[in-house]
Amino acid sequence: MKDFDYIIIGGGCAGLSLAYELEIHKKLEDKTLAIIEPRKEYYKDKTWSFWKTTPHNYDDCVKKSWKNFSINLPNKTKFLECGKYPYQSIDSGLFYEKINKKLKLNKNIYFYKNINEISSENSFIFNSVPNLNRNENNLWQHFCGVEIETNNNFFDDEIINLMDFDCNQRNSVHFFYTLPYTKNKALVETTWLSKMNDNSQKDYDEQIREYIENHLNLKDYKITYKEEGAIPLFHTSYPREKNKINIGTAGGMTRLSTGYTFLNIQEHCKFIRENIENITEVKLFEIEKKYQFLDKIFLKVIEKNPEKMPNIFFKMFDGSSNTVVKFLSNKSNILEDFSIILNMPKWIFIKELFRN
Ligand SMILES: Cc1cc2nc3c(=O)[nH]c(=O)nc-3n(C[C@H](O)[C@H](O)[C@H](O)COP(=O)(O)OP(=O)(O)OC[C@H]3O[C@@H](n4cnc5c(N)ncnc54)[C@H](O)[C@@H]3O)c2cc1C
Repeated sequence: MKDFDYIIIGGGCAGLSLAYELEIHKKLEDKTLAIIEPRKEYYKDKTWSFWKTTPHNYDDCVKKSWKNFSINLPNKTKFLECGKYPYQSIDSGLFYEKINKKLKLNKNIYFYKNINEISSENSFIFNSVPNLNRNENNLWQHFCGVEIETNNNFFDDEIINLMDFDCNQRNSVHFFYTLPYTKNKALVETTWLSKMNDNSQKDYDEQIREYIENHLNLKDYKITYKEEGAIPLFHTSYPREKNKINIGTAGGMTRLSTGYTFLNIQEHCKFIRENIENITEVKLFEIEKKYQFLDKIFLKVIEKNPEKMPNIFFKMFDGSSNTVVKFLSNKSNILEDFSIILNMPKWIFIKELFRN
């Protein structure tokens, strides 16, 4: 069986981002790479959105960028500006197409459906297939979004609605998220932060229909695309292996308080590319410890006080929006961290800090 210098298990967001990063920086001119991906074909299956706090390779896959966002409670709305760090949405269909087109030009890159088709003993492995622990106490961010189209102009496409908590919370944390791509096209998503012990919150179609028709007051529309997913709000730890690094969700690249993963994946890929020549010796790349610590407390607060979360999220944005965006994107300095912490209800957080 054929041997390779590198193997990437999983040709999704992290696997393809890493292969592309290595390819465009000419790290695969005299090295071989096998990408293991079982899917038969690539099509748009996700929309990756984030505040652009660092450069990335996919500006040409950005569907739209916004400089304004809002957050709603039942009787209050906050309007915020993010011109310095625009909120961007990447079309995964364009992303897959761009990367696969580039990778196929390099004869040193091979594509397989199953790891058993090759020998992996002498290779360095980048694994993006998580081994998810199905513990029923774990929290998830689970959601379903639809892209809708209207005949007449309906949306203000200059501003996104990041979190609309004016909806039934069902003893969890629930909000709607609306990204208007044009005046007559938008992604509307129902999002839950909760344990996934049963399917009682998964009547997504009805939640979305109700929100669009009775909350947005939009009756005449058609659904053109649908995506559904669940982001684990926990990290799985794996024993360190000399010839293997986990990447993507498997590599702990999800910011647990927000679910944002895409830009962390890009930073991890850059780190790997910069260190590829001595990859067996480098320290593990991880989300900074201070965020891991704060997110752990934040998740405990979510778990124990779901009814308080709409107000807590709303208050978080009391200060400068740039500061909050930097904090949520792991780019804040210590003073900025403090200013966020000061906006939080202290006793709830202190109580959870000491709870096991
Ligand atoms: C619907 C959805 C929307 C999201 N939106 C956002 C967002 O807006 N912003 C953000 O920052 N994050 C978002 N995320 C979180 C995160 O960015 C994505 O999950 C991202 O795709 C994670 O990349 P990954 O490479 O770890 O996993 P994936 O992209 O899922 O890639 C894993 C790959 O492994 C393959 N695979 C599975 N089993 C095997 C196997 N046995 N052997 C080999 N390959 C295998 C899969 O087919 C897949 O292609 C979203 C997640 C989902 C599910």
